[in-house]
Amino acid sequence: MIIVLKKNAKKKEIMTVTNKIKALGYKPHISVGKDITIIGMIGDCAEKYRNAFEAMDVVEHVSEIQKPYKLASREFRKENTVIKINKSIEIGNKKVYIMAGPCSIESKELLFETAKMVKDAGATILRGGAFKPRSSPYAFQGLGENGLKYMKMASAKLYMPTVSEAMAVEQVGLLSKYCDIVQIGARNIQNYELLKAVGKQQKPVLLKRGMATTIKELLLSAEYILSQGNYNVMLCERGIRTFEDSTRFTMDLSAVPVLKKLTHLPIILDPSHGIGIREHVGAMAKACVAVGADGLIIEVHPRPEEALSDGQQSLLPDQFKILMKELDLVARAVGREVF
Ligand code: PEP
Ligand code: MN
Repeated sequence: MIIVLKKNAKKKEIMTVTNKIKALGYKPHISVGKDITIIGMIGDCAEKYRNAFEAMDVVEHVSEIQKPYKLASREFRKENTVIKINKSIEIGNKKVYIMAGPCSIESKELLFETAKMVKDAGATILRGGAFKPRSSPYAFQGLGENGLKYMKMASAKLYMPTVSEAMAVEQVGLLSKYCDIVQIGARNIQNYELLKAVGKQQKPVLLKRGMATTIKELLLSAEYILSQGNYNVMLCERGIRTFEDSTRFTMDLSAVPVLKKLTHLPIILDPSHGIGIREHVGAMAKACVAVGADGLIIEVHPRPEEALSDGQQSLLPDQFKILMKELDLVARAVGREVF
């Protein structure tokens, strides 16, 4: 249930409510809005304490969230969540942030070359996988911790925050040590122990929708992370599996307005995996911005024909440069901006 406090409740009064929640054995989740503060008390049988909270002076009212996901819902938080990565990056605000880089970190040189190129073209966040979820056990599995060290170096040199994937609980510590955003890949969306582990660390999380995950399941997976106290979760649509086999996946653009209504969390779109075909990534990327993405994640490679993963969908440097300018035009047409 959510406990809505009276307008301008004081810090001390908020504390009396949170202490009471803790004393009952629950974890309080605080959402500070422009005028009102809402405290979530979520868990088994929380509703039986409803009267006790309604009786408190500082409480305006108590209500139940009808949706199965609670902290992720708009009922818990009316305003959009804005995730601050550093002093200038605020994902969920007016600007549409572009995360770009190679699918995999293949070598230090490749990463630095790609990072500089995407940064010069206007990307703000560097992507690159060190632990790769490959369909074949014989395919390149990623450079592991060494790859993450290269990410950290590239980040320091170019002042670019980074995003990379954690595939297992024991990798989460490394990811939060070396990177600025921890990615949970499509294949791990329902790995609940992994979701809890990223919920327990501090870095923002990019949660990718699975290829057979409904919007409700996506939000419930986000709830796993939020429920551990990490409220900086971005949702990522990256294509779902349908009967259509002309594209790698089917980019579910209709998920965006639906998610925007249901949740306050920022939405990132991945047109690279979504369509999986280089020559069509640009068109999809523009559609993603038009439909309301708060950010895009795009694969770029200086020599895609040599890429160790996802070369077929990686943009060439020149394509990416041109696309960035086009994305800014589309963004401005819908009241946003890329640059
Ligand atoms: C990736 O970002 O390279 C990736 C493996 O993505 P997904 O989990 O969406 O397949
Ligand atoms: Mn990839």
